[in-house]
Amino acid sequence: MHYLTRLVEFEASHRYWNPEFTPEQNQRIFGKCVSPYGHGHNYVLRVTLAGQVAPRTGMVINITELDRILKEVSAEFDHKFINLDHPAFHDRIPTTENLAAYMRDRIEDTLRSQPEKDYRLALVRLYEEPSLWSDVVSGEGKNMASLTKTFGFSAAHRLHSTALSEEENRAVFGKCNNLHGHGHNYELEVTVSGQIAPQTGMVMDLGELMQIVQEEVLDRFDHKHLNEDTQEFQCLNPTGENIIRVIWDLLKPRLGDSLTRVGLWETPKNFFEYHGEE
Ligand SMILES: [Zn+2]
Ligand SMILES: [Zn+2]
Repeated sequence: MHYLTRLVEFEASHRYWNPEFTPEQNQRIFGKCVSPYGHGHNYVLRVTLAGQVAPRTGMVINITELDRILKEVSAEFDHKFINLDHPAFHDRIPTTENLAAYMRDRIEDTLRSQPEKDYRLALVRLYEEPSLWSDVVSGEGKNMASLTKTFGFSAAHRLHSTALSEEENRAVFGKCNNLHGHGHNYELEVTVSGQIAPQTGMVMDLGELMQIVQEEVLDRFDHKHLNEDTQEFQCLNPTGENIIRVIWDLLKPRLGDSLTRVGLWETPKNFFEYHGEE
């Protein structure tokens, strides 16, 4: 199976407000997003198709054709105030999850109208900003969405395993074994998944997610020496793999089944990902 991804950008404004909630409830759930005049984002829509390569063209789909479909969808939103200007969002809250799900349905309708095609929609990802995006899939799990938020923390560490000799540590970890440590700007990605709640348009309260990550991860590790200042790494080597596992274990009791993935950029060149034990 081949996968092909194309991106399109659009700029739009929106506001979160559920008329069935009291103003206080709206304020509590949606925070700054309740402002009646709206606020805006540079959205990026990222669409992945899966399919077979056509022998005559060597392509799954002509990018020009895919681009036409994406632009048709994004044009409905580009330079608009989504709540007022898009009929599908007059009574649906234009959250990242709801927008991604709408775009998925819209693209599927377009693809359905093409008779002899050898490809299907696999994934729609919508970035509200580079640090927040929603993924929705096609087919099974159609009513689900996932939401990923990124967080930064800066910390020092020393790669050193008590299971290895001093010499072995130097050989395995090289300059990362430096006695006095070194540090990184870690970038953490936390993904939660679930049904999109019709009342809020969200899979989980984003403010709550941010607070949980703040309390469990950032307050613990930001501007700390992982080996020296934290309980978690007193006896555990703070490799990317171990850090991400510790973060998963800290978040899991608070997020439960909603937590589906944790990603960690140690540097812009190293990325670690954990999905729990299958
Ligand atoms: Zn917004
Ligand atoms: Zn390091």
